[in-house]
Amino acid sequence: MFKKILYLLALILFAGFAWLILKNTDLNAFINVVENRTFDLRQNIMINEGVKKHNNDIVIIAIDDASYEYILDNYGEWPLPRDIYAKLVEYLEAQNPQIIAFDLMFVKSMKSNYKADIQLVNTFKKYDNVFTSMNFDNQPEELRIPPTLPEKLAIDLNNNSKINFSDHTYTNCRTILSDILNTTSNIGIINVSRSDDGVLRKMPVVVKYKDKFYPQLATKVGIKYLKDKENQTINSLSLSEKSILSLGNRNIFLDKDGSAILNWYGPAGTYTYIPMYQLIKAANNEKTTLNYNFNNKIIYFGTTASSLFDIKTVPTGKVYPGVEVQATYVNNIIDNNFIKKVNKATTLVISIILAVVIATLVMRLNSAFIASISSLSIYFIYLLISYYTMRFYDLWLELIYPLIFSILAFTLAFIVKYLIKSRDFEAQYKLATTDGLTELYNHRYFQEQMKMQIEQSKRYENNFSLIIIDIDFFKKFNDSFGHQSGDAVLRQVAFTLKKNVRATDIVCRYGGEEMSIILPNTGKDEAKSTAEKICKRVAEKPFKLANGKESNVTISLGVATYPYDGENSETIIEAADKRLYKAKNNGRNQVG
Ligand code: GH3
Ligand code: MG
Ligand code: MG
Repeated sequence: MFKKILYLLALILFAGFAWLILKNTDLNAFINVVENRTFDLRQNIMINEGVKKHNNDIVIIAIDDASYEYILDNYGEWPLPRDIYAKLVEYLEAQNPQIIAFDLMFVKSMKSNYKADIQLVNTFKKYDNVFTSMNFDNQPEELRIPPTLPEKLAIDLNNNSKINFSDHTYTNCRTILSDILNTTSNIGIINVSRSDDGVLRKMPVVVKYKDKFYPQLATKVGIKYLKDKENQTINSLSLSEKSILSLGNRNIFLDKDGSAILNWYGPAGTYTYIPMYQLIKAANNEKTTLNYNFNNKIIYFGTTASSLFDIKTVPTGKVYPGVEVQATYVNNIIDNNFIKKVNKATTLVISIILAVVIATLVMRLNSAFIASISSLSIYFIYLLISYYTMRFYDLWLELIYPLIFSILAFTLAFIVKYLIKSRDFEAQYKLATTDGLTELYNHRYFQEQMKMQIEQSKRYENNFSLIIIDIDFFKKFNDSFGHQSGDAVLRQVAFTLKKNVRATDIVCRYGGEEMSIILPNTGKDEAKSTAEKICKRVAEKPFKLANGKESNVTISLGVATYPYDGENSETIIEAADKRLYKAKNNGRNQVG
């Protein structure tokens, strides 16, 4: 019964804590931040172990600090005149690259030169593998009227999931040169998604604007790649009930906000960087160290110059250019290895299984040390599993909820176990020190206490007394009324003794119908008067018999006091016994 109540209580406590943890939004946000960190850790371990191989066909033309300086020196302005970009595209196209994508926005600028701009527009018209970008935002209408975008930029999304893209729904748009906008459909969005801690771990695949869905630049590049390399034509997207987006034969799991969680291939600089100034020099037929074959490459233009600021923090580093995020995204599409994060229900099931296993271990294993080591090992095994499932199956098993549940189960199980043990111990101790019939302390306990009293009295130069009691003519009593009645009277005499001494006095069953009382801190006279009081009370008291009738018994008592009557247990008991014998000889029902 006690155990059952305890188990139930522990279960209620566990459920209560679990509920609190799952319901508290602040706590959840905190847990998610830590969980995200464990994701970063797993990603970095994989990178350090060298299991991640980025795609070598992706190359970045970096508008780095050197290129920015070069442009200012040679063209005297930023942005770079657009005819130069046109020239670069022509230079690259001559080598038959797979794709050229600008993670740059060709917006109207104060220095826009229509003639130069139109040359770039013409390259978009000429090549269907050149892409550029645009950005949605939430600027107020009074600042800028939300433009209507060409229909061809949007993509149909058949959304059967619960994702509503509210985190990636925008009310305004920073448009690019209208000539580009009207010329090509190769324009992708470059909005990003950040976690609570500001780190970029995932990217929106599509974003919403004026009730239509617009693909991310990297999504568009990926679609183009699949068409060219794998003959998969993708005109619309479909998002399943389980938040899985089919991109041709690729399945991308989308997070709650509609973003794809990326696998990361390394810190900034993982992909080949070519400073843009080298490309400009090469396109201008100037001498340059550039020696690179762009054939079949996916070429991304983007800024890495700190003055042009497009720097993100990602799982693999504090500094990571936006253009490399794009590269990473495209790499994920090519490798089909987006991360799939398990849902909360699965996490809860895993957490409960771990909690049950750990609680069972703690309850079952006798050694607290082995139970602790085993529980740690169980969680450690789970850690390893979580690492390898991410490594081999791109699966993100959550670590922090299972950890919290495990600790909770471990702690509660230990408390329950301790309570049960201490109760068992108390019960056993009682069993070992008390007499079953009278519920007085037994002979063994009496002997222990005698020794202890002697030690203490010696130490504090104190005295203590012992009273030995024997029921008079008890043999006869048994013979007349039966053993049942004898037992009943024994119990009642014991009760009477207990009632008539101090709480600190120790009443024991010495053996048979003999009892003893140890009176700590009690001198001869005091003990004697206590003995007399007891003698009188027992003699007065009618005792109930087994048949319901009543009868009287008397007792004889012998008193001895330490240190006057003896220096050790044996001599004191002997002295008390002698006086008891005297009392018997003097006619019983008295103190000897
Ligand atoms: P006295 O002490 O007055 O000399 O006479 P007595 O008949 O009491 O003699 P003694 O103390 O030697 O007898 C002990 C008797 O107590 C023997 C036994 O019948 C009875 N007795 C001992 N233990 C128990 C017990 O646990 N239950 C019952 N019913 N009787 C017991
Ligand atoms: Mg006796
Ligand atoms: Mg007797």
